[in-house]
Amino acid sequence: MEEVLSQYSILEDYKLPKPFGDGHINDTYLVESPRGKYILQRVNKNIFDTPVLVRNLSFLFEALNHYENRTGKKLTPAVFKNNSGKFHTPDHKGAAWRLMEFFPGCRSYAISPNENISYRGARAMGEFQLFLNTLPTEKFGQTIRNFHNTPARLKTFLKIVKEVPEKLKKLAAAEIQFAMEHQNIANALEQLLDTGSLPVRVTHNDTKLDNILFTNDGRVLIIDLDTIMPGSIIYDYGDMVRTFTSPVKEDEPDIHNHLFRIKHFLALTKGYLEPLKSTLTKAEKESLLLGAKAIIYEQALRFLTDFLQGNIYYKTTYREHNLIRTRTQIKLLKDMLIDENKLQQTLLVTLKSADK
Ligand code: ATP
Ligand code: MG
Repeated sequence: MEEVLSQYSILEDYKLPKPFGDGHINDTYLVESPRGKYILQRVNKNIFDTPVLVRNLSFLFEALNHYENRTGKKLTPAVFKNNSGKFHTPDHKGAAWRLMEFFPGCRSYAISPNENISYRGARAMGEFQLFLNTLPTEKFGQTIRNFHNTPARLKTFLKIVKEVPEKLKKLAAAEIQFAMEHQNIANALEQLLDTGSLPVRVTHNDTKLDNILFTNDGRVLIIDLDTIMPGSIIYDYGDMVRTFTSPVKEDEPDIHNHLFRIKHFLALTKGYLEPLKSTLTKAEKESLLLGAKAIIYEQALRFLTDFLQGNIYYKTTYREHNLIRTRTQIKLLKDMLIDENKLQQTLLVTLKSADK
């Protein structure tokens, strides 16, 4: 870490960095020097294609600086260049590090505490997408291959389910049956993607609520930019629906506590579409709800596949941990499906009023 810290003159005479926050992928630290406090992050090189990520983000951060200066909007915490003028600093093991602006007293939420947070969080994501819409997709490579690809996740699940012992399958019989019976969600998405009617845009791809920072001076900022790459906006909308509407953590074992909170669905839909409304195509508008269903289905498949494979990807603290997570996603999706017509109607009304 020292070799990295020495690359930043603003960190001269720093105090020992302390682990910070509760991210699961990167290593995040708070570092203090006489000039102030900063966030230091080491990008996880086992998860991301580091050279691609460094290229993507150096293009993005330059463009973001221009956009923020031009529009006067602040969208994300600033990233500081090192003494060589670069946004990332490599260490001798090939990992990339970066130094970011820190907001004392800021917070992010695993669960949305009220509709105002859902509205403001989604609105900030919509404003951020307006910026992403200005970027050329060909400048961005894939930092994780096939990151959001529901049809590919389904294929993997169908392959694994054939290979696992009957005894293990019995434990997850109901969940496997649900996954089998709802393949139409992945198929509908695959057909849509095949027609090429959804525009490929630069998108965030990890729009969960805890990737949004609420500062104590009232700003709402987007973080966790490592998965920014070409994709579809319907997945970004979908992951907000998945993470904003649930009132409890995704591994809460009591299934009755998992509810789809329609009020939060309304708030986030309004917030996201207000700034973005006029830039979306008809096909995108019509597919938003499919995006939400697909991402919840995809997440259920990923947890279930990992359970069947012996918990090799997600961190678990007990054997059924991934099975519990599968159940919570299925419950959320079931709730959504019950109210599907109502949700679609609400979406249309929101899009209409947003059009005015
Ligand atoms: P995830 O588990 O969501 O993939 P990650 O390991 O990729 O997380 P981030 O989401 O970038 O890491 O950051 C982890 C946490 O650190 C955030 O949830 C937030 O609480 C905190 N954090 C990150 N950047 C900042 C910042 N600039 N200012 C204050 N806190 C920050
Ligand atoms: Mg995060």
